[in-house]
Amino acid sequence: MPDLAYVNGEIMPIEKAVVPIEDRGYQFGDGVYEFVASYEGRPFMLEAHLDRLERSMRELAFDPISRADIRHAVLDLFDRGGYPRAGVYIQISRGVAPRNHAFSPGMTPQIIMTIRPVKEMPAEKRKTGATAITVTDTRWGRCDIKTVQLMSNSLAKQKSLDAGCDDAIFVSDQGVVREGTSSNLFIVSGGRLTTHPLTDNILPGITRMVVLKLCKAAQLDVEESFFGRDALLGADEVFLTGTVTELLPVVRIDDQSIGRGEVGPITRRLYDHLRKQAMG
Ligand code: PMP
Repeated sequence: MPDLAYVNGEIMPIEKAVVPIEDRGYQFGDGVYEFVASYEGRPFMLEAHLDRLERSMRELAFDPISRADIRHAVLDLFDRGGYPRAGVYIQISRGVAPRNHAFSPGMTPQIIMTIRPVKEMPAEKRKTGATAITVTDTRWGRCDIKTVQLMSNSLAKQKSLDAGCDDAIFVSDQGVVREGTSSNLFIVSGGRLTTHPLTDNILPGITRMVVLKLCKAAQLDVEESFFGRDALLGADEVFLTGTVTELLPVVRIDDQSIGRGEVGPITRRLYDHLRKQAMG
C-alpha cells in the first residue's frame, strides 16, 4: 500500500498530490494543522484533536467546515493505510486566491491529509533519555494556535541537532521555560510535577492533557505554573510530551545532567500509564 494523500475529498498516492501555487497556506503560511496517531489501528484522542483543529480555525477566522466530514476522512485514511501505528496529518489552509495579504471573499478552506507509518523514537532513546539545548523563544504571540508557520520551531530543532542533541526547549526572553519544538514539557522536583499553564505562549497539547489526568489518577502532586531555566536545570526529572514523542525523558540540558542523568522513576511510571491508556 503506498502512502496516501487526501486532497479536498480525493484520495491518491502522496507523490501525485499537489496544491495550487496560490494556496494561502503556501503563500502566507495561512493554514492550521493537526497530527493524529493510531495505536493498533485505532486513532488515539481523535475527538480532542478535532476540538483543537476547530479552535485553531475559529481563532484565525477561517470559514467553518464539517467536523463529521473531517472525522470520516481521517478514519477512512487509517482504514485504507492499514498500519497498526500510523499518523495522519490534517492540514487546512484558508483557501486559494490571487496573492493579497487581506482575505479574499468567498474562499473555500483547502483540506489536505496524509497517512504514513509513525516514525518511532529509537527504543534506546526512551531507555537512556534524550538531550536538549535551551533556545530563546522567537515565535509569534499565539503559540496556542496550531498553525503551519513553524519557522522558529524548525530553526530551533536544527540548532539542537547541529549541537549533537535531540531537541530544543524554548525559553522566553524573560526566562520562562515554555515547551519543546514539537512537545510540551514537565519537570519533577521533590516528587512534585510542574508544567507551563495554558496561555497564548504554548500549544495546548493533547498528550499534556492526558498526562495531567494520569498524574491526578495516580495521585501525583502536579501543578500548572511558570518556572525558569534554573528550575529546569535543577529538576530531578524532565520529560517532553507529544503525539509522536509520547512521554520522552530528557536527561541532559545545555550540557548539564538532569538529576542523576538517567531516566527517573516518575517519568518511567507515567510513560507506562500513558502506553496502557493508548493501547486501550
Ligand atoms: N507543542 C508544540 C509546539 C507542538 O508542535 C506539539 C505537537 N503537536 C505539542 C506541543 C504536543 O502536542 P500534542 O500532545 O497534541 O501532540
